[in-house]
Parts: sequence; structure tokens; C-alpha cells
Amino acid sequence: MVGLRRGYREGVLVEGAFGSADGTRLLQVSHISESAPGGVSDDCVVASERFVLVLDGATANGLATGCVHDVPWVVSRLAAQISGRLIADGEAPLADVLAEGIGAVCGLHADTCDLGNPDSPSSTVAMVRHRGAVVDYLVLCDSPIVIEATAGDVRLVRDDAMERLPGQSPEILRDVRNRPGGFWVASTEPEAAKHAVVGSIPAADVRRVAVMTDGVSRLFEWYGWSLGRLLGELADAGPAALVASVREAERRAPVGRFPGKRHDDATVALCTHFDPFGP
Ligand SMILES: [Zn+2]
Repeated sequence: MVGLRRGYREGVLVEGAFGSADGTRLLQVSHISESAPGGVSDDCVVASERFVLVLDGATANGLATGCVHDVPWVVSRLAAQISGRLIADGEAPLADVLAEGIGAVCGLHADTCDLGNPDSPSSTVAMVRHRGAVVDYLVLCDSPIVIEATAGDVRLVRDDAMERLPGQSPEILRDVRNRPGGFWVASTEPEAAKHAVVGSIPAADVRRVAVMTDGVSRLFEWYGWSLGRLLGELADAGPAALVASVREAERRAPVGRFPGKRHDDATVALCTHFDPFGP
């Protein structure tokens, strides 16, 4: 099929032909998800020709959750609910998609679990969607997105609410999770979606995007990597090589030098080919 589609080229809104004899080139995504050595992953990644979705389930902290399900159950259901909506409706605002997804997962276990428990299983959410002439993004909690512009500059999209907390003990997190002044995460409150970092940028301005869990962003948060180095290695050597670099940095780091887990689940997706005339 050949038709007309509006798009941006060199920053100018134009109309052009799409669906040529060569076909329309859609978003290309390459990704990897690797558990911490010896562990079971609480991460999840879903990719299509239009979007990529990355989730990082909060590790169980030993406190009673009020939920008969484990973290991977919640993460996988949330991934299914969000990605199903992204496929069915390519125009819905990402925050609405997330709110509906959280609400739908609540419906799956409202009869069996106490959804009012503040330690109910939860997950970060990061997603990027190519929607015609624009690229939409959403970040909730600590799974960031790195965007490289066609002009060369690299920017970080992150939700830093957790960093502003007075501490991150299980007790502190329980008191401020999904509360005003605290931090927001996908769990049992659809309202959390309103607190996500969201935005849209012209597809013509986007060269490549990386979406990751904090098991990978520690490369620039802890180990001194620049955003450009991360994107460069991800694009040139691939997602598996980047995660291998994470493991090497973890092994080299002095014990006790950084807070949190020495090894974490590591998930990263690279998105390229943001054709301003599609999809
Ligand atoms: Zn449950």
C-alpha cells in the first residue's frame, strides 16, 4: 500500500509517501534480560515493532504483603495488561495505559488478596512508543530511559522520587510508597500513573533510545560511565555485551562501596529506526 503520512524531517512538518516497494521500516528493538547470578529475575521486557516496555519488580523484603502471589506474578500480569493495551490502541496516552493496566491487575487479585497492604508486590515501569511522527516515553520509579538525539546530544529521563526519601529501609519505603511526598510505583494504585515522568518528542529528532532497569543504569549511576558510552557500547557490541560489562564492574567494585545489592537483575533494550513517516 502506498499513501501519505505526516512526519517531521529536519524539524519541519511535511507529508510524504510511505509504504514504498521496499516497505515501511518499523522500530527495531534488541534486548536482553538477565537475572542476578544465581537468582530468579523480577525483570520483564516486552518489545514490538512500535514500542518497548521494561518492568522491574521490587524484590520481596520479607514483610507481609497481603498478597498470595509473588513478584513475578504481578510483573508478568502488569506487562501483559500494558502491552495488550499498547497493541490495541496505538494512540492512548501512556499514563492512561499504565493506569488502566494497574487497575486491571488489581481486578485479577482483588478477591484473593488485601490490596490495601502497602507492601503489596510492585514494579517500576519504563516504556517508549513510536507513534507516527512522535516518540512517547514514560518512566515510573527507577528504570530510566536514555535518549540520543539526531543532533548528537544525549539526555536522561528518570524519576528521582526515591532519591529524595530520607532512607530506603523496608519500613520507610512502606510508609511512603504510593503516598504524596513519597514515591510512586506500579502496584495497587492506578493513581501512581499520574506521577510518572512522561513526554513526547519528534521522531525525526531521535536517533536511538535505551530503556533499562537499575541493574544496568548502575553503569552511569555508580560506575562512572557516561550516557554516551553506555549507548555506544549497547549499539556497537549489543545488549549481552553491555550486561557483561555490568557484571565485570560489579565484580571489580570494592565490597561495601555502593549501597544495595552487589548484583541485580539486568535488563536493557535498544530502540533504533524512528522513521518520522511511520509506523
Ligand atoms: Zn495477589
